[in-house]
Amino acid sequence: MNYKYLFGPVPSRRLGRSLGVDLVPHKTCSFNCIFCECGETTDLTIKKCEYVPTEKVLKELDDYLSKKPKLDYITFSGSGEPTLHLKLGKIVRYIKSKYSGYKIALLTNGSLFCRHEVRGEVGNIDVIIPTLNTVNYETFNKICRPHKNLDLTNIINGLVNLRKDFPGQIWLEVFIIPGVNDTEEELSGLKEQITKIQPDKIQINSLHRPGAKDWVKPASSQVLKKIAEFFGDKAEVISNNNKLTGGGKYTDDIEKTILKTIQRRPCTAKDLSVSTGYPIEKINKSINGLVEKEKIKTRQIHRRTFYMLEK
Ligand code: SF4
Repeated sequence: MNYKYLFGPVPSRRLGRSLGVDLVPHKTCSFNCIFCECGETTDLTIKKCEYVPTEKVLKELDDYLSKKPKLDYITFSGSGEPTLHLKLGKIVRYIKSKYSGYKIALLTNGSLFCRHEVRGEVGNIDVIIPTLNTVNYETFNKICRPHKNLDLTNIINGLVNLRKDFPGQIWLEVFIIPGVNDTEEELSGLKEQITKIQPDKIQINSLHRPGAKDWVKPASSQVLKKIAEFFGDKAEVISNNNKLTGGGKYTDDIEKTILKTIQRRPCTAKDLSVSTGYPIEKINKSINGLVEKEKIKTRQIHRRTFYMLEK
């Protein structure tokens, strides 16, 4: 079966071997973050909809999970904000009832947890990883470029309420952008609010792949370490090498596999090799062919070469 809504398993820095489930078309989100590795948001929305057909997602899950693959997590993530999908709760319940041995993770911008019904949909998830980068409105608008009807205070209250309702793990991500949200004032305000949210972990992250805006630069590992220390015992830096394990092949066609992988996020040749299981020499050969055919382009981050789709 050629999967349209499942991707990977990908080697995730935080989650290990993770099967991606993509519930929205590229690029549907309530934010348009300047650091987004999926590129610019084209559908900036807070409307919940069945963006992709639920029955087809369940069919793909059945096809994949019935083979009992080895996975650390099934993760809702991909081309935008997963909580926008109207039937997220139904899909979570389906996995938990039919494939109860698998753990589920949700990568989310957290913007919709201010709605009671959205918090109700995620109760059976094992790990929720929301992002909160600032408590300052001006900085929030600069980094997240949110939908006009979203309010930062409501979003923070939504996360506080999520903690009250949700029995699973909350790993709160703080994405650091040098010169934007790394001042003492910014971080002190954030720390105060995070104390109210009470996440199980605070994950300090920075640009790892090319983002939507070229001027966004990664923070150094020393700076990230200092910030993690400032946030206390629950904080950790998300390094490039966390939990990297092998993924799986999507198809037997290596070029198709590469294109499908980088369609969701830019990758290095090594990422592609680890993620797909193809040897690095084969990956490099195919990449060169795809660059020559102008199907993919390159960008440098931290002296590493990333490949992304030529739009
Ligand atoms: S980083 Fe996440 S929240 Fe921000 S625009 Fe991209 S998909 Fe949306």
